[in-house]
Amino acid sequence: MRKLALSDEVLLSVEKPARYIGGEVNMQVKNPNEVDIRFCMCFPDVYEIGMSHLGIQILYDILNRRNDTYCERVYSPWVDLDKIMREKKIPLFALESQDPIKNFDFLGITLQYEMCYTNVLQILELSQIPIYARDRTEEDPIVIGGGPCTYNPEPIADFFDFFYIGEGETSYNEILDTYKEGKKQGRSRKEILEQIAGIEGMYVPAFYDVSYHADGTVAGMVSNNPNAPDKVKRQVEMNLSETYYPTTPLVPYIKATQDRVVLEIQRGCIRGCRFCQAGMIYRPNRERSLEYLKKCAYEMLASTGHEEISLSSLSSSDYSQLQELVCFLINEFGSKKVNISFPSLRIDAFSLDVMSKVQDIRKSSLTFAPEAGSQRLRNVINKGLTEEDILNGSGKAFQSGWNRVKLYFMMGLPTEKEDDIEGIAILSDQIARKYYEIPKEQRSGKVSIVTSTSFFVPKPFTPFQWARMNTSEEYLTKQHYLRDKIREQLNRKSIKYNWHEA
Ligand code: SF4
Repeated sequence: MRKLALSDEVLLSVEKPARYIGGEVNMQVKNPNEVDIRFCMCFPDVYEIGMSHLGIQILYDILNRRNDTYCERVYSPWVDLDKIMREKKIPLFALESQDPIKNFDFLGITLQYEMCYTNVLQILELSQIPIYARDRTEEDPIVIGGGPCTYNPEPIADFFDFFYIGEGETSYNEILDTYKEGKKQGRSRKEILEQIAGIEGMYVPAFYDVSYHADGTVAGMVSNNPNAPDKVKRQVEMNLSETYYPTTPLVPYIKATQDRVVLEIQRGCIRGCRFCQAGMIYRPNRERSLEYLKKCAYEMLASTGHEEISLSSLSSSDYSQLQELVCFLINEFGSKKVNISFPSLRIDAFSLDVMSKVQDIRKSSLTFAPEAGSQRLRNVINKGLTEEDILNGSGKAFQSGWNRVKLYFMMGLPTEKEDDIEGIAILSDQIARKYYEIPKEQRSGKVSIVTSTSFFVPKPFTPFQWARMNTSEEYLTKQHYLRDKIREQLNRKSIKYNWHEA
């Protein structure tokens, strides 16, 4: 029987102990004594969120295909366990073997959003690994940062031994081969990092001198080690139909945010919204072939027992063979009661047709992301979605039987004025009016519009990267202004306003 790192007493005193025991369906089991490299992959957030992340599942699959490597996982302990681990000095452990992470060769941390940076420090502290890279010794794991935040690594550079800039499919095998050979040759940690710095896409902060302007922006960056290139080139996997895909993904015992098969149909986005980092850094748009996706769908549904398959991408409507793929999935799996979901469809006639085939119209709501309330501001952000598109799309949806719409907007976008904010209230009302244009006997009850606003955060490598971000006071004022404007609308009772706390 597996020995757990936490005693029954501890497990029974924390919320959701299943977060910490591993043993999930499709978990990799290897003998740690029979591998050369022990790698712990970390999503620095709570288990249910981390388990829903496709990138970790892809890397877990890539690394565990190697017989010489055992890749395990760790997520951020919740505050209740964090407290106990600190009090009892229990080192953070990997879910598979339950062994302390500090004894591993690598700790790979994916950085998906800046809000998790403090969790990274929590992971390092609980693991009893020195938080600063400069304080680590030959005994400590090499700490790698990956994911979209590494495109702007300087704010967190002190905590990482190196960053992997770009997509994980391309270079992990080369890194592990380099490490294994280095260990065999008796090379030091620094010597191994020097070799890793020579692999395209790897940024070892210790090998660069970075200077700053008075306002904190980077003035220059010079390599101080002959092995480190002047420029680090982002890694891109160009052929997504001939690469890794986790066809036996992990299935948790507790409900995760994403409890379905996730089929990534393409990577990148052909659009160019100016605030959107994903749209910029995952360029170019690359589709997976239809045959490849069909094969993955079969294997993943069989290996997991999931009853839902989600077609994931930044903008699924732009996948050139969406119609064929959806028809295939309906024909193959519809009778087996497998649901199909699309997180990111543009609302046009085809999408509505597809959705009415695969979703229960009465239960589902339609989602639009106009992002800005006025056409002027939508043009500024290059949203490429006109008022006509939105109203026509909603009109068609209402005629097909939908009566619930979710609208997503961003506040604080560059050049925003009061008119643009008022435009959010007006557009929400216009959509409701569109519903009431349908004769009463043909409508399905009342319409429900849920209007949500989030804040604009300028992101690196976007055209708006240097735009100013609003203060929390400004956001609060804007939220109150919009709330009051919604209250002035004819259909105010049909509009629910959700906002993020500033
Ligand atoms: S916001 Fe959506 S449509 Fe626009 S660039 Fe980003 S992913 Fe593409």
